[in-house]
Amino acid sequence: MISTEACPPPAGLSLDTLAVHGGSPFEGLTGAVSVPIYQSSTFRHPGLGESTGFDYGRGSNPTRAELERTLARLEGGAYALAFASGMGAISAFIKLFKPGDHLLISEDLYGGTYRLLNDFYRSYGFSFSWVDTSDAARLRGAMRDETRAIFIETPSNPMMKVTDIRLCADLIHRRGGLLAVDNTFLSPYFQNPLALGADLVVHSGTKYLAGHNDTLSGFLVHSREDLEEPLRNIQKSEGASLGPFDSWLTLRGIKTLALRMERHALGGRKIAEWLRGQERVEKVFYTGFEDHPQFRLSAAQARGHSGMISFYLKRAADVPVILRSVSLILFAESLGGVESLITYPLVQTHSAIPEPMRLSAGVNDRLMRLSVGIESPDDLIADLDAAFKRCAREP
Ligand SMILES: *Cc1c(COP(=O)(O)O)cnc(C)c1O
Repeated sequence: MISTEACPPPAGLSLDTLAVHGGSPFEGLTGAVSVPIYQSSTFRHPGLGESTGFDYGRGSNPTRAELERTLARLEGGAYALAFASGMGAISAFIKLFKPGDHLLISEDLYGGTYRLLNDFYRSYGFSFSWVDTSDAARLRGAMRDETRAIFIETPSNPMMKVTDIRLCADLIHRRGGLLAVDNTFLSPYFQNPLALGADLVVHSGTKYLAGHNDTLSGFLVHSREDLEEPLRNIQKSEGASLGPFDSWLTLRGIKTLALRMERHALGGRKIAEWLRGQERVEKVFYTGFEDHPQFRLSAAQARGHSGMISFYLKRAADVPVILRSVSLILFAESLGGVESLITYPLVQTHSAIPEPMRLSAGVNDRLMRLSVGIESPDDLIADLDAAFKRCAREP
């Protein structure tokens, strides 16, 4: 058998190096330095009962397999599965459970996750509790005998609340359940939940991992041998597996993950500090501020703060003016790419969440979310400054 996996990189390498070299430093068949896009839906069998390791593209593909090896290494897991989007990954995770099971979910999280669980899985008989998981007392209070899993985002989207991963792992493991952590906001460069006790890491690879606002992808990463077969079966049966070209784009993006994350973090800090000094801004939510309520927890479980910032304006009337006035920063849904994006969670990422729950999470009509890209922070500040000045002229 000619393997498309040549030689795995030696153990003990840093994340910077693993991001560049991925699962294998070169491809075994031809020596190609850039892993080829195996754009084939099916693979020939050498003979009856024989296989190259690949048969039909929904189940496996060499380009996707290389990406999965890369993700597993970056998150320090034994296994990774690549899906057509982050939602495909989350949906596969939920299918590990059965009607009647109770799952505890971060109240402040990506609106699409809420929609998937509430509009679909709830009607199949799953039950969910939406809890502020950054509050240890509420987290403990929400646990039930039938709780089979905790699913958290930390930092959360969009309020940047930080949840104690070790505490969640301890609480759910006492009941024999699973902890899944959506690590999209920090990427494996800044946080590795498996090392803190999580059973599964979820990623929207669409964001920091792919990093260029040009493709969607999603991942589950884990080290649980007992989950590997069931998850592979879900991936293969459901058809939400990632295609070869999108696998390649994501691999290509990951090569510069370390460089980009350092730059996102630098710009994020500069802009968070600038925003905090602005007359029209009431409050800035940024995990890198020493007065962030979970600053110490964040320092204990993550290595940095990415480029994600949310802020309350003093006046809701400023929102449309800002969205219309920014020119370098694009008014668009999504995050984690090289281009800076500004989002209005109320009508975009969190529109699926009912008002009482949205308001309880803090998503009001004055909240804006900024994904700081890799442009010059000074240029981005000038763009925001011009938009704020426009607000002052349009009372
Ligand atoms: C975008 C996002 C998702 C969903 O991922 P898609 O790739 O858009 O399907 C899930 N979680 C978080 C935190 C996200 O930002």
